[in-house]
Amino acid sequence: MNQSVQNASSQPIIQLNNVCKAYEDRAVLQDISFSVKPGEILAVIGPSGVGKSTILRLISELEPADKGEIITTEKKIGMAFQYSALLNSYTVAENIAFALHDSKFSEEEIAALVHETLDLVELDEFYDSMPDKLSGGQQKRVSFARAIIGNPKIILYDEPTAGLDPITSTLIEDYILKLSKRLKAASIVVTHQLSTIRRTADRIICLFKGGIVWEGAVSQLDTDQNEYIRQFIDGKPDGPFTSHH
Ligand code: ADP
Ligand code: MG
Repeated sequence: MNQSVQNASSQPIIQLNNVCKAYEDRAVLQDISFSVKPGEILAVIGPSGVGKSTILRLISELEPADKGEIITTEKKIGMAFQYSALLNSYTVAENIAFALHDSKFSEEEIAALVHETLDLVELDEFYDSMPDKLSGGQQKRVSFARAIIGNPKIILYDEPTAGLDPITSTLIEDYILKLSKRLKAASIVVTHQLSTIRRTADRIICLFKGGIVWEGAVSQLDTDQNEYIRQFIDGKPDGPFTSHH
């Protein structure tokens, strides 16, 4: 492969430059800058209410930023919401097919795509099932399938392992890794769970009071002396973070 192609492939898919967001007069995000490359998984950590989900909503254009720029080189974005958010009166397949509602695919093409996507999360046997017949972990995987149908190059996960037992969390983490590799996507995982960070993330950004207070590789987690990271590793993700309330 020639040099220019290699370089091109390592350009960020997601880039935020000095992004600001306020609700009414309350600043939530101030001067947030980071980027994510193809195949890379970035973990976003920080206390509740700091603006983690807001970052995902800005990237997926559910809301506009007030200032700064968000550059995405790929149009298709898959968002796995915090709560699986499946519609209980529709089948698993119908829930996933909603993501294609404004596409020009035929019924047969949609069915084939849904089967293919359910295969990826190993749930094709539940194609015609109602969501409430599935376990929490299986519903999470259906929500992943819905997020990744159409092969997005950007995948955003909002607390994908929150409230799941350790074994199910591990399984979900495996799928995050698998989908990242398969789609060569730029992924962002918002999480409070250290185990999820360790197993999935390449890099981490830590937010506090609207800004990034630490950025680093997973390999630095155990030795870095940054106070926010030490508190996080000590199992007190809201440790020094809560003092501003
Ligand atoms: P996190 O995901 O880190 O817990 P969020 O991004 O959900 O935090 O929210 C950041 C802050 O913005 C919170 O204080 C939240 O109450 C506030 N917020 C989020 N959405 C809105 C909204 N639509 N209107 C007003 N305030 C909001
Ligand atoms: Mg949130």
